[in-house]
Amino acid sequence: MAKIIQAIRGMNDILPEQTGLWQFVEQVSRHVFAAYGYAEIRFPLVEKTELFKRAIGEVTDIVEKEMYTFTDRNGDSLTLRPEGTACCVRAGIQNGLLYNQIQRLWYCGAMFRHERPQKGRYRQFHQIGAEAYGLPDIDIEAEMLLMTARLWRRLGLKQIKLQINSLGSLACRARYKARLVAYFGAHQNQLDDDSLRRLTTNPLRILDSKNPKMQNLCQAAPRLWDDFSDASQQRFTQLQNLLHQHHIEFELNPRLVRGLDYYNHTVFEWVTDRLGAQGTVCAGGRYDGLVEQIGGKATPAFGFALGMERLLALLQLDETLPPTAIDAYFITLGDVAEQHGLLWAEKLRQALPYLHLLYHCGGGTLAKQLKKAHASGAKIALIMGENEWQQQQIGLKYLRQAKPQVQLGLDALIQRLKENERGF
Ligand code: ATP
Ligand code: MG
Repeated sequence: MAKIIQAIRGMNDILPEQTGLWQFVEQVSRHVFAAYGYAEIRFPLVEKTELFKRAIGEVTDIVEKEMYTFTDRNGDSLTLRPEGTACCVRAGIQNGLLYNQIQRLWYCGAMFRHERPQKGRYRQFHQIGAEAYGLPDIDIEAEMLLMTARLWRRLGLKQIKLQINSLGSLACRARYKARLVAYFGAHQNQLDDDSLRRLTTNPLRILDSKNPKMQNLCQAAPRLWDDFSDASQQRFTQLQNLLHQHHIEFELNPRLVRGLDYYNHTVFEWVTDRLGAQGTVCAGGRYDGLVEQIGGKATPAFGFALGMERLLALLQLDETLPPTAIDAYFITLGDVAEQHGLLWAEKLRQALPYLHLLYHCGGGTLAKQLKKAHASGAKIALIMGENEWQQQQIGLKYLRQAKPQVQLGLDALIQRLKENERGF
């Protein structure tokens, strides 16, 4: 027998029993984004390597060690997208969507990073993200945070906390950087290899270290806020006031610097302590410098991306079930009913386009078919035997409610189901 070919490590199949929950999250997200005037954008899975090097920064985990980069048949260096923001900006510039315009965009899809696969960390994973362009103030920031909070509410997501920080303006950041280099420089013997390297390349990222041995040192590091200008401080305070006004709870986390280089002012994460080490479900911030960095005209930008796998893991902890895939299960008994049942099923689908109707193929006893109906998750069984067919009727049996079975003609059945097509 031929050897079975396995999927690539860290790249998962999403099986039929799981796709219901994926679709649920995707649908709710779509509705919530639409409610705030966001339009979907779709960009390719593969881009020129240069795009990510320039956007994300050469001295980041992603570009240094996580990208799936290859040379194509023309000799061009291409990369499977590790994140969406760079692609969104590239597409925005190329299609003239950004300059002097306001855009609210969202995207979703697979991202690729060559990381060590573990719970909540995969090599192909999925993000849903939103980006707003052309809006320099905190109103859009507050609105987007409210949008994410609404999304969690609509999904029934619990125990997820907002952490925010401000990185200040570029000038504030430069002052802070100098102080940070002095501090970590004085403690060089306590730095791990990555941090030692970052001391000269990207010192702010040392704060982002996941190494437990670095935590005390990072905890005692100078605070970013001490280097803030009045304007940066005021802006940060105003955002906090807005969040208070809207009863959005948050924590200030001065060590939240985000892995990517392009952020300024507000950065945020929605985190949970229920998923072990991989606790960041959603992350984002302001990135006013990026559009220019990729060759466009300076454009203010604010956005976030959420990790679908982590979000779903959290939903599953609360045993959130997807809306059942099957509403009604059509049972036929005997040859005559079998012949006509298929026709009635088609008529039902014609009249009730949102009904999820599973027609039992292959016959069998009533007991066997009812067992299948129960297992399918259907809320009702529609039963057609020879008697029913003679009377041009069908039996309606409630599978999840203590209601008596009734017998109805086709029109009456359609009427009954129309009242509550998917709910019963
Ligand atoms: P982390 O610090 O966990 O590596 P990150 O800073 O690299 O996260 P972002 O680039 O900000 O993550 O991506 C946004 C979100 O996408 C993360 O908060 C997380 O939920 C999800 N995510 C990132 N990398 C992965 C991965 N390898 N597998 C699954 N989800 C991921
Ligand atoms: Mg990462």
